[in-house]
Amino acid sequence: MPPAPHDPAVARRILVAEDEPHIRRILATLLQGADFEVDMASDGREAMARLESATEYHLVVTDLMMPHLSGLEVLEAMAALSHRTDLPVVMLTAKGQDADREKALALGARDFLTKPFSPKKLLARIDELLGL
Ligand SMILES: [Mg+2]
Repeated sequence: MPPAPHDPAVARRILVAEDEPHIRRILATLLQGADFEVDMASDGREAMARLESATEYHLVVTDLMMPHLSGLEVLEAMAALSHRTDLPVVMLTAKGQDADREKALALGARDFLTKPFSPKKLLARIDELLGL
């Protein structure tokens, strides 16, 4: 039997793509503390490897500036993955990257937060996108 949509027991696996170790740690602590299952990728290529797999994800939080593949390139590559069509993506950007926000929106990003982000705000956006 397929899991019901928005079942809080299942709809809670998040992929985090972030190249800065200390921000990755902050995100892991925050999301795990809010009872999410969290997989980590330290660059865009690793994020794509996880997205190309069959692992079920309900949301992606990705940094914009990362080695190998940027957040924008991850969005672009995700568009070719038929099993990730409706996967919401929240992008973390630094100040001064507003032009990239436009591109990210065009590529299907659902939300943005500027670093340093408010943990409370991030959790609220995630709950909203997941319908929790
Ligand atoms: Mg970065």
